[in-house]
Amino acid sequence: MSAVEQSAAVDADENLTDGFNLIIDALKLNGLNTIYGVPGIPITDFGRMAQAAGIRVLSFRHEQNAGYAASIAGFLTKKPGVCLTVSAPGFLNGLTALAHATTNCFPMILISGSSEREIVDLQQGDYEEMDQLAIAKPLCKAAFRVLHAADIGIGVARAIRAAVSGRPGGVYLDLPAKLFGQVMNADAGAKSLVKVIDAAPAQIPSPDSIKRALDVLKSAKKPLIILGKGASYAQADDAIRSFVEKSGAPFLPMSMAKGLLPDTHPQCAGAARSTVLKDADVVLLIGARLNWLLSHGKGKAWGEAPKKFIQIDIEPKEMDSNVEIVAPVVGDIGSCVTALLNGMGSWTAASADWIKTVTTKRDDNIAKMAPKLMNNNSPMDYHGALGVLRTIVKERPDAILVNEGANTLDLARGIIDMYQPRKRIDVGTWGIMGIGMGYAIAAAIETGKPVLCVEGDSAFGFSGMEVETICRYNLPVCIVIFNNDGIYRGTDVNTSGNGDPAPTVFVKGARYDKMMEAFGGQGVNATSPDELKRAVNAAMDSGKPTLINAVLDPAAGSESGRIGNLNPQSKLKKK
Ligand code: ADP
Ligand code: MG
Repeated sequence: MSAVEQSAAVDADENLTDGFNLIIDALKLNGLNTIYGVPGIPITDFGRMAQAAGIRVLSFRHEQNAGYAASIAGFLTKKPGVCLTVSAPGFLNGLTALAHATTNCFPMILISGSSEREIVDLQQGDYEEMDQLAIAKPLCKAAFRVLHAADIGIGVARAIRAAVSGRPGGVYLDLPAKLFGQVMNADAGAKSLVKVIDAAPAQIPSPDSIKRALDVLKSAKKPLIILGKGASYAQADDAIRSFVEKSGAPFLPMSMAKGLLPDTHPQCAGAARSTVLKDADVVLLIGARLNWLLSHGKGKAWGEAPKKFIQIDIEPKEMDSNVEIVAPVVGDIGSCVTALLNGMGSWTAASADWIKTVTTKRDDNIAKMAPKLMNNNSPMDYHGALGVLRTIVKERPDAILVNEGANTLDLARGIIDMYQPRKRIDVGTWGIMGIGMGYAIAAAIETGKPVLCVEGDSAFGFSGMEVETICRYNLPVCIVIFNNDGIYRGTDVNTSGNGDPAPTVFVKGARYDKMMEAFGGQGVNATSPDELKRAVNAAMDSGKPTLINAVLDPAAGSESGRIGNLNPQSKLKKK
């Protein structure tokens, strides 16, 4: 090759880009700088190149955990969390989390490599053949496939906008293997990228809807404000706090809205939940749905007294989903709450009588609970163990609390007070098990704060292998496993006589702490609340990956925790 020919070839190279680079550039251009995923065909090199290009790439041991990490990253940051998976089986593993993100209204993009369209569509048996786009569609808010390198910019832009605008949710982006290597002119490639402007535009409520809502609120004698995780997500913390305080009304936080105002706030009705649900006459929902978690807004939990519901939500279709909403306020929470606040004038919604009733009930309940939380029993019961964790969170209010399990979830939710917004992340709308380690990893990565995971032994099992990931990235995560030898309890017996363990029990006396030691993390076996307290404090001080096996009484715990009513029991069972 002559010198002239050589330089022409180099020039041609310099002017080329490919699918790999365009996807990376499109993500970076839009501020998506973290990827949660599992490498493999066809996205292995993509992960390497993304890392080399400055994107933080977190490699997990199972796609479901990477997907849960991406989903909660979306909740914590208001930017879509990105999960990257291989085709067919990896894609399917990630799909649970994508559906979870959609159900929970968290913005997330599942990017999955896929096999060749030509072969998949003729069902000719490609490596990991699957029509992924069709399978993803019913489980997410939107699904897109990009076939040409020149469309990557638009594809990524559409995915971002779909994930975060309106009601946030999961988006699927299908990238066939061939796309990654597709080459195009670099200048044209750069021009094809799209920076999404105002991805989640403010949605201003109509003045009529604000006036209607204020009129209903003014008519209240016993108002109640319910804050849901949509309110946490909105990051309108100051406006929400000012509005709630100005209204004077008791407020009830849903579990992931705890800390939006501190649980110790004088208006917090968390410990008087049944009273306020039963007796309130006007209920204002802010980013909370009237789904099963709120008994659908009717029935025994809501009492006999007639109620009027005001609802603030970005999704118009949410209105009247379960009961009549007399004052729907459709818009983003920041804009809606600010409009209510501005329209309120000087009156407060709540009467002194109502406040007194709620406060008395709440203080009684808290006083009843207090002595139980101070026991130092060994083996521990839930209250003894949670009593010390409650104090630790009070002393470290900026730590993130991850919580899953049955009894471990229900009791921790009630006992551990939260003090700051978006510090409690848990099983969410489905009440699923398995979010634990994925959430912990994303929380540490996205916030840089220490993370405390309070896990049932069963719940932990769904994502337990990710302790290696936690150790590998040396994350400040302290996992406490409430080990009661089983699901709900560790005491069930098999009545058949065949020698198998009962379906709900695990290995007795298991030492989960040794799992952490296997990967160079800190493992501690704690048999009393005192030991637990020392171990958690040491872990939170050091920031070292730590797993504490908290030995609970196997008989502690009840069937399905607080939702035993949802778990049908046979009345014909042989005794
Ligand atoms: P919780 O389980 O805490 O009660 P839900 O997930 O049931 O909360 O409800 C959250 C609601 O918040 C959803 O209906 C969702 O549409 C809404 N939402 C999410 N983000 C916003 C926002 N920025 N503005 C208004 N509503 C929002
Ligand atoms: Mg258990």
